[in-house]
Amino acid sequence: MAYSSLHGRKPMERASKITHASVITNATVQALLGRCSVPRPAEAHTLDEISHDMPLSDTDLIRVIVAVDGSMREVPVREEFPSATITFFTFGPLLFKLEALRELNLQTFIAPEDMAKLKKIQRFVLALPTRNISLSGMTLRDSVRRSLHEFFADHHGGDDPLYKTLRWILFRGWSKDGDKFWELPHCPNHGCGHERIRLTPTSPDEGPCDTCQRPIYLVDAFRLHERVDEDQGASGISSYVLTVLEQIVMVHVIRAIWEMKPSLLQEVLFIKDGPLACFGQAAPISKPLREMATFLGDQPDPADPSRRVSYLNLAGLEKSGAFVEHAIHIDEHLQPGTVLPLSNEYIYKYIIPGDPNSADPYGGNTYWGGKLIFKAVDGNTYVATVPTAQGFKASPTYADYLNLTEVLAALAELRCSMYDNALIPVAIANRLVSLAAVPSSRILETFAREYVQR
Ligand SMILES: [Zn+2]
Repeated sequence: MAYSSLHGRKPMERASKITHASVITNATVQALLGRCSVPRPAEAHTLDEISHDMPLSDTDLIRVIVAVDGSMREVPVREEFPSATITFFTFGPLLFKLEALRELNLQTFIAPEDMAKLKKIQRFVLALPTRNISLSGMTLRDSVRRSLHEFFADHHGGDDPLYKTLRWILFRGWSKDGDKFWELPHCPNHGCGHERIRLTPTSPDEGPCDTCQRPIYLVDAFRLHERVDEDQGASGISSYVLTVLEQIVMVHVIRAIWEMKPSLLQEVLFIKDGPLACFGQAAPISKPLREMATFLGDQPDPADPSRRVSYLNLAGLEKSGAFVEHAIHIDEHLQPGTVLPLSNEYIYKYIIPGDPNSADPYGGNTYWGGKLIFKAVDGNTYVATVPTAQGFKASPTYADYLNLTEVLAALAELRCSMYDNALIPVAIANRLVSLAAVPSSRILETFAREYVQR
């Protein structure tokens, strides 16, 4: 079948039939490769110079783990019209005691009844229209905005709506300091020219635009709708949605504990699957999250109020991507019990192609923590993001990461290194929330069909 047939085959499909070998020997490709640079392996002596021995933890404060994780699946709404899809997102925090985990660690297999020890705090399910589908006759873009708005406004079984946490983040609810407004560069409604719209703590969750009178939602702060294409669909925003939601849900728990008893945060380690970062149009959200980490990272010590300590124990763990590939590559040269803080220079030299002397450091607009590679005493290696004190650091030192010794000591107990996906707790969180292909996607399809107007 020709690629230009009615079935909408794209030229790429034909291109994929060209063999790998002929691509590599192609003169144009060779000329391009000749002008490209790729990261190079780090030398063993470089690693020795910059790695840091991990001191023994002298406190034993962390008792509880909260792991936040999610998954998503795009499902067709009608069999005869497979291009109409909804994407389901399942995510939420899992909570368990480190003590229960230590007992689990002694067992080879994890029995189903042991799973019960992992207490689900809350499971969220969001259904988002992603292609050829419309909510109450709205455009796809508005359908996506409206669905996100309703999800954030929902009480999800009696809990505070996620909007309460989003407000806490956008308007720095933890402090009298910081910006108390959030600016949208453009009105999110199609054809409206209103620019620089200010959302403030008194803005409603949904209010009219001064110019077009159509709704502006607080979730418009994520600006995810800007990537929705009426023809191509909204699948392109799915991974952004999931990353943002996981982080909001994590802060949802942080806020709840902070408002209950601030110092209790010291006893909790928060783990997120993936880096601590917001990407794309949602990147500006990383700024207030940094400020939150700075604030929680500088609190009075309940044991001695004249001292300042960090209440925040938090790590984002990576299992794939360029940083994990690099960590695998250097693993044999890393000594057990050492930490490699990743500076901007190191990242651009050895991991991501870029200029090590750039004024625009890696993660400067997206991350709310510093990257590191950690090899535990048992030989397991981790790629993690941990928030740094006093905001973003282009070249963080060991002391810059908040409660690093305690965080890494607890992480090492969890044994969920980059190699072993089958280990707890993110792996268990994965299993509990994942939407397996069969039979749950059937259930979701049926659900989708029932709830979408034909
Ligand atoms: Zn408007």
